[in-house]
Amino acid sequence: MFPLRRVGSKVLEQWRSPIAAGATASAHRKGYSSEAPRPLTLLTEDELAMKETIRKLATEQIGPLVKKMEDEHRIDDSIRQLLFDNGLMGIETPTEYSGSGCGFLTMMLVVEELSRVDPAVAAYVDIHNTLVNSLFMKLGTEEQKQKYLTKLCTEYAGSFCLTEPTSGSDAFALKTVAKKDGENYIINGSKMWISNSDVAGVFLVMANADPSKGYKGITCFIVERDTPGLSVAKPENKLGIRASGTCMVHFDNVKVHESAILGEYGQGYKYAAGFLNEGRIGIASQMIGLCQGCMDATIPYTLERKQFGKSIYTFQGISYQIAHLQTQLEAARLLTYNAARLKENNMHFVKEAAMAKYFASGIITNNNKNIKKILLETPSAACNAWNFSSKNFLNINI
Ligand SMILES: Cc1cc2nc3c(=O)[nH]c(=O)nc-3n(C[C@H](O)[C@H](O)[C@H](O)COP(=O)(O)OP(=O)(O)OC[C@H]3O[C@@H](n4cnc5c(N)ncnc54)[C@H](O)[C@@H]3O)c2cc1C
Repeated sequence: MFPLRRVGSKVLEQWRSPIAAGATASAHRKGYSSEAPRPLTLLTEDELAMKETIRKLATEQIGPLVKKMEDEHRIDDSIRQLLFDNGLMGIETPTEYSGSGCGFLTMMLVVEELSRVDPAVAAYVDIHNTLVNSLFMKLGTEEQKQKYLTKLCTEYAGSFCLTEPTSGSDAFALKTVAKKDGENYIINGSKMWISNSDVAGVFLVMANADPSKGYKGITCFIVERDTPGLSVAKPENKLGIRASGTCMVHFDNVKVHESAILGEYGQGYKYAAGFLNEGRIGIASQMIGLCQGCMDATIPYTLERKQFGKSIYTFQGISYQIAHLQTQLEAARLLTYNAARLKENNMHFVKEAAMAKYFASGIITNNNKNIKKILLETPSAACNAWNFSSKNFLNINI
């Protein structure tokens, strides 16, 4: 903690997002008439309560373990349990499957607040919820939902396996095959950069069940971790979000019954493309949380650090950059919340999701090198992830 959180509190007020300024739900809504169009940053009572709860939980319980987890390349078991206990592994999942039954924007607020403290934990929660749970919710048979959704909310994480060593942006060129064998399919191939695979209990695997049909043979299979032939390599040694387990996953004659197909045979390419659209809003939420975390760590430092008899915050060269960065962050937040609200209301959101991810990921690279240097020098998990983020978060999904 920086001592200047005490002496600089008044100065800090102006830079904080409403929640950090201690706004209560009613103060936040003060002056808002229900007939007026809704400002994008005006949250419902429930959304604001969730944001406040997660900020407290992340700051108090995850914060102290961030360095240890980054050093050990794994999310601490106690933190994974904390996420299950607080309903964060089934944010949108209906309560009948032990989920929290919240809306999409609430899920994005959770991801934003977790990223503010630890972007690796946020990535774990985001991918599990926006890719794995969502696919099960939208495409699963009642039997599949009963079997997997409840466990995904209470017991284990899920992984989404699309990327391969030779197919990244060109995802539909994937080479993993699923060959029909009676009532079963035999899966062979390797997946790369698979988040959560170090601990996942279930994997959604995109494999081609009929390569003669090209990408129209791609089918989504549910594969449980203990299925013979499935193996997970050790986590990649990444530059940032090191606690998020990103591994290669190999499938060597992995046999699954045809009932393990999620959705329809041959429709996997549509599912992957579709769900990556909403995944982009998740990445944008990670980026705005990460940036907020950097700001919250950096501004106190600029207040505390004195040169030429004054805190460096008071030099216009620094404060201009902070103002610029804060404006970029606000713009990214508006793009992100707008895309999330559109998605939540079943409206077209694909273009807005892409723009939110593009802009939010770019805030960092587009900023002045002086403030970037200060950010990098400031000790916080968010700042550590800063350097890594612009390149890698933009790449996380296509
Ligand atoms: C931390 C992390 C976690 C990930 N988690 C998952 C996961 O859980 N599941 C999963 O399936 N995948 C995951 N991925 C993989 C991710 O989706 C891929 O990295 C992404 O699709 C890009 O593929 P690539 O890395 O092979 O890059 P490539 O596709 O090889 O691209 C290399 C470079 O070429 C550029 N490029 C590619 N095509 C074009 C083009 N047409 N025009 C111009 N430039 C182009 C790219 O922008 C990039 O700069 C993860 C990646 C990271 C970094």
